[in-house]
Amino acid sequence: MNRNHNFSAGPAVLPVEVLEEASRGVLEINGSGMSVLELSHRGKDYEAIHFDAKARMLRVLGLSDEEYTVLFLGGGASTEFALVPMNFLRAGQTADYVNTGEWGAKAIKEAKRFGNVHVAGSSEDTNFSYIPRTLNLTPGAQYVHITTNNTIEGTEWPALPETGDVPLIADASSDILARALDYSRFHLLYAGAQKNAGPAGVTMVIARKEYLDRASDDISAVLSYKTHAKADSLYNTPPTFAIYVVGLVLKWVEAQGGVSAVEARNREKAALVYAALDAHPEFYEPAVRDRADRSLMNVTFRLKNPELDKAFLQGSQERDMDGLKGHRNVGGFRASLYNALPVESCQALAEYLHVFAGQNGA
Ligand SMILES: *Cc1c(COP(=O)(O)O)cnc(C)c1O
Repeated sequence: MNRNHNFSAGPAVLPVEVLEEASRGVLEINGSGMSVLELSHRGKDYEAIHFDAKARMLRVLGLSDEEYTVLFLGGGASTEFALVPMNFLRAGQTADYVNTGEWGAKAIKEAKRFGNVHVAGSSEDTNFSYIPRTLNLTPGAQYVHITTNNTIEGTEWPALPETGDVPLIADASSDILARALDYSRFHLLYAGAQKNAGPAGVTMVIARKEYLDRASDDISAVLSYKTHAKADSLYNTPPTFAIYVVGLVLKWVEAQGGVSAVEARNREKAALVYAALDAHPEFYEPAVRDRADRSLMNVTFRLKNPELDKAFLQGSQERDMDGLKGHRNVGGFRASLYNALPVESCQALAEYLHVFAGQNGA
């Protein structure tokens, strides 16, 4: 197998071991005489996969299954931008949102359809180049919503904000399983699988059971968290293959030594790339203002001389590097270094950053 260095922001690199096992499962799963793609979601073979993935997710995140539950839904993280307020914010009520990037801004836009949104902090003034240090929280708000890692801009919350009695809700699409946060700080978090946890097609919602009990009842059944919680995410056909692969990724995380071990490797990987950028300050310009806010997952930078952009990208492709072009709204470059990206890919990128700067007189 000839693998590229895949720096794509998502769908993203998956562990080779997972791809190998999944390809066997596509042919036949557990001696069932069927492909994993062919299993009924009401049969025992699929149920074993489904409930194992649910339990494993909580275990890997350090959450108890007494207190928390996992929903496997369709629709992507973008659908949760609407479902969170639909379930937890009524007309006349207020929710606090922190606006740290494009994804957070989209979540705000959806929430405004349902109730009052108070923007408790924002870094929009500098094109989202930092995480606000002080928040102006509303006492008695329904919840506070943050984006733990800002995939497009390349920032992450260095520490979770204190919200007192107000439930903390997060879009953790791009750093779930990547760092050992205290996940019990969240009443609810959600993540599309396709960055760190599996293929596109399934969105995980991880929530306190007691909190889901408080969700609205008067909404469409299929859009209600309660419905899916009661049915263990088998209310209708779940994205079975994607859930199967998430289960394999979780096994892989456990085999690495769990989230803390994965985080240690992620820190090593990110340090390689940031050090190479920082070694040539006259040549590369990191997009994030404060070093403390730099994302472990998405390294964003520009060339001081944008006339070299094309040559930089072309040179990277010649070295089998894929996905370095920045998000269309931000420009420049972005290297996503998700869990499954090998250290060797970060070494290759760091070397290229040095060589390219050297070749161009830095
Ligand atoms: C990718 C991403 C999304 C969008 O996910 P979809 O599954 O495409 O809806 C939302 N939030 C963050 C932080 C992301 O990285």
